[in-house]
Amino acid sequence: MTVGTQETHIDTDFEIVIGLEVHSQLLTRSKMFCSCSTDYANAAPNTHVCPICMGMPGVLPVINRQAVAYTIMTALALNCSIPEYSKFDRKNYPYPDLMKGYQISQYDVPLSRDGYLMIEYHGQMRKVGITRVHLEEDTARLLHHGGYSLVDINRSGTPLMEIVSEPDMRSPEEARLYMQKLREILVYLGVSSGRMEEGSLRCDANISIRPRGQQALGVKTEIKNMNSFRSVERALEYEVQRQIAMACAGEIIHQETRGWVETKGITVPQRSKEQAHDYRYFPEPDLPPLLISRTWVEALRAALPELPDARRARYRTEYGLSAQDANVLTEDKSLGDYFEQVMAASHVSDRKARAKAASNWLLSEVVRLLKASTISIQSCPLSPSALVNLLDLLDNEQITGKQAKEVLDEAFASGEMPEAIVAKKGIKPPISDQGELERIIEEVIANNSKAANDYRGGKTNALQSLVGQVMKQTRGQARADIVQKLLKSRLDEAPSA
Ligand SMILES: [Zn+2]
Repeated sequence: MTVGTQETHIDTDFEIVIGLEVHSQLLTRSKMFCSCSTDYANAAPNTHVCPICMGMPGVLPVINRQAVAYTIMTALALNCSIPEYSKFDRKNYPYPDLMKGYQISQYDVPLSRDGYLMIEYHGQMRKVGITRVHLEEDTARLLHHGGYSLVDINRSGTPLMEIVSEPDMRSPEEARLYMQKLREILVYLGVSSGRMEEGSLRCDANISIRPRGQQALGVKTEIKNMNSFRSVERALEYEVQRQIAMACAGEIIHQETRGWVETKGITVPQRSKEQAHDYRYFPEPDLPPLLISRTWVEALRAALPELPDARRARYRTEYGLSAQDANVLTEDKSLGDYFEQVMAASHVSDRKARAKAASNWLLSEVVRLLKASTISIQSCPLSPSALVNLLDLLDNEQITGKQAKEVLDEAFASGEMPEAIVAKKGIKPPISDQGELERIIEEVIANNSKAANDYRGGKTNALQSLVGQVMKQTRGQARADIVQKLLKSRLDEAPSA
């Protein structure tokens, strides 16, 4: 049997089974078990450290309450149940980035379990089970320099939340969609920066294949080192092909951890995957068990912000936006927040018309300007009230759409209010009254009889100087193409001036 395209095999012989383990650093001010600041991104190595996160003997960790709150909030947003009792455990493994020789994590009683996340897959809603959301600490970072490695302990002890899915995904694309949806929720909750490229959000994927119809799961491999949604999908696509080729050739797939090599587009073996018993988990003796009061859980549930699906639905009902526009506006929370501010500052009777216009200008022109200058919407030099001002000028027909684009460009560059730019430049809407334009044309022909006669005598270039004169008289408020047309027909019809 040969390996055909992925499609043929997915549809016929094999079923793909994917589960994701997503790690997210939490946006707390201090680390998980000590008071060191987590704001180490631009700090010199080993400056955000203390005896606790350096793993010195004899020190005692203290649980960061905010990290526990963020984990419970995430679990609630993912429809998990929160047990009343939870605890931390030691996960033992020797690795140079692990300062204590063990990681404080959670084993058999995590902070939450049994949730789900809904994703839209080719127009259908799919439910992906969430096994658990638990809390642990991040490791230090190793910096490799040819023959030796250096360790930066700044990252050590940063709160790290792990979200484990059930093996419910059936294609690499579905895994990417799950990952994107999960990131959206974390960002909306304000618990994660969601920056995969910086490693504050990481994804490990477990993948196996099985003959279609078989119940038992095949042997899985775990893929690491994917730092974008695209690489999650690509790595899984590669792994599907690799496993299918092996199965077809009668080779045995071993359980192992493989690393994704972005530049080559392949996965390579890293180490054989440990089993849980290899870690010799035991309850962390330096920390008390966690008793999670129902009052606290309900307070956290009540304080959950509006999540992306709810916002999306509201944009369609409240503002009458299309599904497409509502999706794009809510995918990036900051873009949606900006849109909300525009709507809050808009005092108009027709809210839906304003929402449509705001969405159009935001998604086309403003996004274009942001991209061109590589600025994020959070630091957009055009304030929401400036965009409102521009939309008001348009609604009141004080400027045309074309003029509005020029005003927007300038407002974006200078941060000035559109009305100030319009006043400063003396911008007025084009003269649309043809009678007024014809009167000016007569006047220009009478005052420039030489050019008019030149044109009539065959010097067609002369027309341009007349167009210029008319444009000057109208102070640029006429459309040049209309002026030219009117002038031409006036000069062609009668030989007198
Ligand atoms: Zn510390």
